[in-house]
Amino acid sequence: MKKTHYTEPWTKAVHFTIADAEHFYSETTPFQTIDFYKSKTFGTFFTLDGLMMVNEKDEFIYHDMISHVPMAVNPNIKSVLIIGGGDGGTAREMARYKSLEKIDMVEIDERVVRLSQQYLPLTASSLDNDSRITLYFEDGLAFVQNAKAKSYDLILVDSTDPIGPGEGLFTKSFYENCMRALSDNGILINQHESPYFDEQKHEMVRAHAKIKDLFPIAEVYQFHQPTYPSGHWLFGFASKQYHPLKDHKKDQWESLGLKTKYYNSDIHQGAFMLPTYVKEALKNAS
Ligand code: SAM
Repeated sequence: MKKTHYTEPWTKAVHFTIADAEHFYSETTPFQTIDFYKSKTFGTFFTLDGLMMVNEKDEFIYHDMISHVPMAVNPNIKSVLIIGGGDGGTAREMARYKSLEKIDMVEIDERVVRLSQQYLPLTASSLDNDSRITLYFEDGLAFVQNAKAKSYDLILVDSTDPIGPGEGLFTKSFYENCMRALSDNGILINQHESPYFDEQKHEMVRAHAKIKDLFPIAEVYQFHQPTYPSGHWLFGFASKQYHPLKDHKKDQWESLGLKTKYYNSDIHQGAFMLPTYVKEALKNAS
């Protein structure tokens, strides 16, 4: 019988259920199991190893926040490396910047890209429509290790959680290689998980401890992602030179006239204002 519910364990005790989700495709690749569903509430969505990645209803929040925050700090970015991001949503947002010259995307699992192109054109459509985008199907870890020094102005780590193929993207050696591959004014944005439940908080603290050891500027910003555990999610902003608030180029970014559904200049400022319990957890990260 067809599954008509989707349930995901956010923790051992807390589960998230979508009661109007119909399962329509499943495939196990050498890297992970990919499942696609259709829901009246969330539209088409897919999961990797049973965890929600992207859905049509709230994808704009994640993709706005990973892309526009760094671009509003340095609108002169020319070359970008996206690690993961197989659904294409991050590449779609980056491709809106006409000033970008190169968008490289390294996704370990080609099937995520091909299935997103088939079932999720909302996020995947720019992947074959923009000559600046080059797709590489390899491990992001090895890719940055082999990347030329100072070859990217921005690295966006749009990865899965630190289990399975995404594990290496939360290691110190990966962050060191990102640092090396970034230009002198380079910016790294990475998954920082969530501060709320202990399971994800543990990963948030571990990721932050490693990054703040390496980068002179290592800040964290938050956004509301309703379908990720607790709905409270974080990205890290690390840079060799630019501070996300002191160097925020509000007017320059606004003059581009990009229409966004979640991101705006007020959100940019507010996203870095963290609740006390989050600040304390990050301060103690070591
Ligand atoms: N927005 C999502 C989230 O936070 O749940 C992540 C989206 S996503 C589609 C993440 C992608 O990272 C997956 O397609 C996965 O195959 C890819 N990925 C995981 N580990 C990777 C690695 N080591 N190198 C490159 N891509 C990787």
